[in-house]
Amino acid sequence: MICDINISGVIMMNFHILTLFPDMVMQGLNTSIIGRAVEKEYITIDAVNIRDYTLDKHGKVDDYTYGGGAGMLMQAQPVYDACMAVQAKIAERKKNTVGARVIYVTPQGKTFRQEMAREMAKEEDLIFLCGHYEGVDERVLEEIVTDYVSIGDYVLTGGELPAMVMVDAIARLVPGVLHNSDSAVTESFHDGLLEYPQYSRPEVWRDKRVPEILLSGDHAKVDAWRLEQSIERTRKLRPDLYAAYIENHDEG
Ligand code: SAM
Repeated sequence: MICDINISGVIMMNFHILTLFPDMVMQGLNTSIIGRAVEKEYITIDAVNIRDYTLDKHGKVDDYTYGGGAGMLMQAQPVYDACMAVQAKIAERKKNTVGARVIYVTPQGKTFRQEMAREMAKEEDLIFLCGHYEGVDERVLEEIVTDYVSIGDYVLTGGELPAMVMVDAIARLVPGVLHNSDSAVTESFHDGLLEYPQYSRPEVWRDKRVPEILLSGDHAKVDAWRLEQSIERTRKLRPDLYAAYIENHDEG
């Protein structure tokens, strides 16, 4: 596989987002840590306006659904052509014809989880398709989509926020994006556990003291305390994760 390399020799990851609202996506992702990662060229984010690809002379991209029903549906042609244009650009850069994965964000998909983010962070290019209105004509989905992913069991007005959620979660796992690579390793879900409680200055705030052990300087003890806290917090807040953790750790 030929990978893009930035000036510091780090492999870049490229996110391509097919949307009717490119400004919303770019404004949302061009700040803070993800914005800095773009600036430093660890990742690229390209929001592609599906409307630019419509063949309709009035710029229309949606129409009524066959069989009746409320709302409009995004039509197949502009979505297909936008996606093919992005695939062609990727193929030209990589000098191969293996298509990039195309993720349709939809409430009907598999629920997005940290392990999915980890797996997707290994890709060099990811294409996201954001639906709007009632969604997208089924025929184009059958042609171009490789993954159907939901961010949870609720319905949003469009796929822009779900795509932004996924890009954020995946991008922060790309090497170099977080200053301290340990952050992603100690965070919630890394080992199937929630993260332990954390404290910053001052040592006492509203009569609440930082746990003594964190001031001890004994790293082994701090690590043991944190693991214990992670397990306890997971048991209390996420019994489903706790049960899976206990099962995995009993086996060994
Ligand atoms: N009619 C569709 C259905 O019942 O499955 C819902 C369409 S929704 C109003 C419009 C678009 O928002 C979808 O095409 C999808 O891209 C996005 N969307 C809404 N909720 C989502 C969720 N929970 N996860 C991912 N994408 C979602």
